[in-house]
Amino acid sequence: MLGIDVLAERLSTYLGKDQVNLVRRAYYYAEQAHDGQRRRSGEPYVTHPLAVANILADMHMDHQSLMAAMLHDVIEDTGIAKEALCAQFGETVAELVDGVSKLTQMNFETKAEAQAENFQKMAMAMARDIRVILVKLADRLHNMRTLEVLSGEKRRRIAKETLEIYAPIANRLGMHNVRVEFEDLGFKAMHPMRSERIHQAVKRARGNRKELVAKIEHSLANCLAVDGIAGDVSGRQKHLYGIYKKMRGKRRAFNEIMDVYAFRIVVDKVDTCYRVLGAVHNLYKPLPGRFKDYIAIPKANGYQSLHTTLFGMHGVPIEIQIRTREMEEMANNGIAAHWLYKSNDDELPKGTHARARQWVKGVLELQQRAGNSLEFIESVKIDLFPDEVYVFTPKGKIMELPKGSTAVDFAYAVHTDVGNSCIACRINRRLAPLSEPLQSGSTVEIVSAPGARPNPAWLNFVVTGKARTHIRHALKLQRRSESVSLGERLLNKVLNGFETSLDRIPAERVQHLLAEYRLEVIEDLLEDIGLGNRMAYVVARRLQASEGEASPSSESPLAIRGTEGLVLSYAKCCTPIPGDPIVGHLSAGKGMVVHLESCRNISEVRHNPEKCIQLAWAKDVSGEFNVELRVELEHQRGLIALLASSVNAADGNIEKISMDERDGRTSVVQLVVSVHDRVHLARVIRKLRALNGVIRITRMRA
Ligand code: MN
Repeated sequence: MLGIDVLAERLSTYLGKDQVNLVRRAYYYAEQAHDGQRRRSGEPYVTHPLAVANILADMHMDHQSLMAAMLHDVIEDTGIAKEALCAQFGETVAELVDGVSKLTQMNFETKAEAQAENFQKMAMAMARDIRVILVKLADRLHNMRTLEVLSGEKRRRIAKETLEIYAPIANRLGMHNVRVEFEDLGFKAMHPMRSERIHQAVKRARGNRKELVAKIEHSLANCLAVDGIAGDVSGRQKHLYGIYKKMRGKRRAFNEIMDVYAFRIVVDKVDTCYRVLGAVHNLYKPLPGRFKDYIAIPKANGYQSLHTTLFGMHGVPIEIQIRTREMEEMANNGIAAHWLYKSNDDELPKGTHARARQWVKGVLELQQRAGNSLEFIESVKIDLFPDEVYVFTPKGKIMELPKGSTAVDFAYAVHTDVGNSCIACRINRRLAPLSEPLQSGSTVEIVSAPGARPNPAWLNFVVTGKARTHIRHALKLQRRSESVSLGERLLNKVLNGFETSLDRIPAERVQHLLAEYRLEVIEDLLEDIGLGNRMAYVVARRLQASEGEASPSSESPLAIRGTEGLVLSYAKCCTPIPGDPIVGHLSAGKGMVVHLESCRNISEVRHNPEKCIQLAWAKDVSGEFNVELRVELEHQRGLIALLASSVNAADGNIEKISMDERDGRTSVVQLVVSVHDRVHLARVIRKLRALNGVIRITRMRA
């Protein structure tokens, strides 16, 4: 019988006929895709996915997981696209295969050991469907079982990764059996000599102890029978890697570890566990301080059992675990037990992630009932319902960030200075927008420039508190220095009218005024003026006060340079550009807004020297200024392109364009164009006029 037929027969014990046929189809697809490829052992490649599927069948995994197991190396090794799998086997299976491939591509081995835990978390976060992890664990298990055929170096690399990443993941998910197999196979590959020595020692010890073990087992079974309790007593063996870790970690001699006789008693229900405990405590004296009730207070990954140690005959210590069959199942298979257990289908929510949730919920309830620390379960929750992303720095360090974090959050997490001077980013070596949410597993590189400043727009997309606080702080500092310098210019302008200037005012007079305003330093006063909270005119008069009622002689306008920053803005209503006659309107807290002299919105305050000040454009004004143009023209084909190329020909930039047709023959186009100044604007308009069919061009202003 063929391998797939054997599997199909096993599957038919718990899957429907249609589902088994889907698994078969996936097998034949994989067989064809891997045609001609061989395992290192010489077998056809398809034997590997088949073996992986068999491992998952042991766990009674659903048909989609089994299909994904069949196809798990297809994307990676045969160049068949995810889309093709999607068309053949549906979205879910394609997603599972894709998830497994992504984990396979992750390069664990070059990174520092200290980061292993983060890698575990990252792997979990990347697998949005927990079945991805289970398929990957099965894949790794089969590779570990067939590790001998690989070269020494490759074997060690895979073994190390298994011990550091996959065994702990299995442990987190409560999958004891898988973890133990990972550890023993990994130990054997990493330290073949030590593993062999311990193996031989265990064999020898077991031989010597056979008789005593049988005796103890018999007396325990007898003791249960006397009390009329039904239960299975069995001897327990420690796994090699566990012994090795104990010897190293606790610095204990091999004999010390092996001199403990370990048994497990499995019964039908919780109640019976405690009765068994009483019975065995009657049989042998318990060792004080060694009793643990993990039924009332389960271990972090949901493990439940009673542990006690007894003084046996001749004073040999006997370790005993007492648990129910269900607890035994959970202790061995953890999260996978939910597939293994064919429970009432109506009770269990359908779907597969639901099963994983069920497991987490179950553990959570156990822990809550026990009032235990929620630390572990918090971490599993993060793993299964990831609200975190894990990304690499260019040097391979892992950063943990909340879900939705962007490169700016990343930059501030690296260092405040990196955040403040960041101007662009590369995600996986490609330039990307700073606002793009990061994905787990990406490598993020920040491009920074000395003297760069945080952009207020970042506040719209950053998610970490750290980034937000530092951006706000930097903006506040920037705003302060900009308002101080604008305030100084405003004040000096008025003082100049009085034929004096700030540095010619005696210091004590300045101090006097500061005291009166309850301000600490002159910068506070200047900032207030720059922000529009205090009128330069009034302050100037006060500083002048003792020199009599001089009135300003000539008012020279303040020059606008275009570099004033956050405290100066250009009115949206009349969009002034260099060359236009302008005035500044001061509004409290906002700083200065520049309007056209003719703007209707300020006509009421136009001559109030406390609210409006005369402005002029500096000769070397810099920047781009938007103006809105209304172009009326005869309707024609390709009209937008024509307009765009004319504006372009005059070095202008179209920021916005909209069009409505007035009647069949003429159209009205609204253009927002950015220009340097009026001369530039005139050039743009001239170009537009030269177009065929243009009837009228108007610059829009309030
Ligand atoms: Mn594989």
